[in-house]
Amino acid sequence: MTYFIIFIFGLVFGSFLNVLIVRIPKGENIAYPPSHCPVCKKQLKWWHNIPVISWIILKGECYFCKSKISLQYPLIELITAIIFVIVFLKNGINIYSLIIALTFSLLLTLSMIDFLYKAVPDSLNLLALSLSIFSSANILENLKNALLMAGGFSLLRFYVSYYVSLKENFAIKKEIKKAPWLKSFYPTPVMIEAMGEGDIIVAATIGAILGIKLSIISFFLSAIFAIPASLYLRFSKKEYELPYIPFLAISLIIVYTYKDFFNNLLEWIING
Ligand SMILES: [Zn+2]
Repeated sequence: MTYFIIFIFGLVFGSFLNVLIVRIPKGENIAYPPSHCPVCKKQLKWWHNIPVISWIILKGECYFCKSKISLQYPLIELITAIIFVIVFLKNGINIYSLIIALTFSLLLTLSMIDFLYKAVPDSLNLLALSLSIFSSANILENLKNALLMAGGFSLLRFYVSYYVSLKENFAIKKEIKKAPWLKSFYPTPVMIEAMGEGDIIVAATIGAILGIKLSIISFFLSAIFAIPASLYLRFSKKEYELPYIPFLAISLIIVYTYKDFFNNLLEWIING
């Protein structure tokens, strides 16, 4: 029964996340106006607003104008509810589980916004990080891990940016050799910044929740997940920059859920 209530709470909270996903990137107020159809602007009735169930009753269409309601709404609600149940099952029924579940939900929201708009609102990102520091009783340890991961990720970003810029400038030099008139377009060497700044904050959040060792596994996993997606983009020649936050978030939740497995794996890698 308890977990059923937690599931319902997750659904309701997921419904609020949908509001954040739709309104924050547009700079709209998250509380006002009340829920409305984005197409016909008519205000929704209370029974149009029940997580998942309303979407099924309305067959995924607006009650008034029959325009399609994205599958994103019930999906985000369900995923949030599942995240809540997993965290409370793993970590017990206490305040820390609530904090972790809220942090994961914010990362889910950030992932969706990054995926849809290629934007990472600092408001949500910093809130997730602040919460994650309090994700266990050992606040100082969490803070230390967050700082280490943020620092490590910033340094990694310098290395990757340096490498990518070097490669780009080498390619430009080659072009200029062929067509010297291009030189006027590149008075100084090009500096490319690899990875987003928002990723550094997410890295700190991961550090606070997982600790150093599991965080490194989580980053490694996120890179593995990103490979097929980036290969797909490269071969389909689509002009779309891959958002990285979804991969970081999915890896965090997987490593958190299978903490024991990954701890054993680490033990095995180190000690054989
Ligand atoms: Zn409508």
